[in-house]
Amino acid sequence: MVPLMARGSAKIRLYVEHPLAAGQRVRLSREQAHYLFGVMRLQPGDAVALFNGVDGEWQADVVAAGRKDGELTCTERSAPLQLPPDLWLLAAPIRRERFAFTVEKAVELGAARVVPVQTEYTQDAKRVRVDKLRATAIEAAEQCGGTWVPEIAEIAKLSDVLRDWDPARRILFCDEGLAGHVPALPTDSGPWAILIGPEGGFSPTERDRIAQMACSHPISLGPRILRAETAAVAAITLWQQTLGDWG
Ligand code: SAM
Repeated sequence: MVPLMARGSAKIRLYVEHPLAAGQRVRLSREQAHYLFGVMRLQPGDAVALFNGVDGEWQADVVAAGRKDGELTCTERSAPLQLPPDLWLLAAPIRRERFAFTVEKAVELGAARVVPVQTEYTQDAKRVRVDKLRATAIEAAEQCGGTWVPEIAEIAKLSDVLRDWDPARRILFCDEGLAGHVPALPTDSGPWAILIGPEGGFSPTERDRIAQMACSHPISLGPRILRAETAAVAAITLWQQTLGDWG
């Protein structure tokens, strides 16, 4: 939960798992009440902006403020629901704080789903805490003015993910083996996934397998080898600029 100068009058944005509509009362969890009333010192009558990933952003007034609970009432909708483009990020886990950074940036930049994938050279698969990554995604959406929170999938083996892959979803395969080539961006719209490897890169077997998939589009991210989290940010940026909702 993070403060933000929101579009309407409220300075604080909060993701809630609750329907939002005019006059709708929203009960707060203990954690949310602690944040709003203990940390941010809000009082009855103060305003908060709420979103739930379905109903857009709503202004809400505090009507009850306790140490362990509280209640808000929705007043008016301040923004419609805005879904990101149908872009997934498939990324091999890296060190915990760097992977959290990757998830945070994926939300800000507009990915619809993040799938942690265990590749052959992945070192940090056991350290993935999906619950923490989901909390990171929620905080990022609250902070960036999003009205939707991307799904963070459970970690899966890349080989299994590719075995069950829907070929209608193209794969932007960020291949460090192409570093130095000019990035050749795709032009075809539709569902896409960006694939980023771990610190050790992809194994030759993985590289061959992905390259053989008709839906894969291998791409260079420039002349230098980027850290995995930098590569994720660069690839989403390129894709968004060409095929996404930045235009
Ligand atoms: N250890 C690998 C090496 O030295 O070649 C580098 C792996 S890099 C740290 C992590 C991931 O970022 C890669 O698997 C790839 O998906 C992506 N990446 C980094 N730099 C890239 C580039 N210049 N072009 C394409 N992908 C890149």
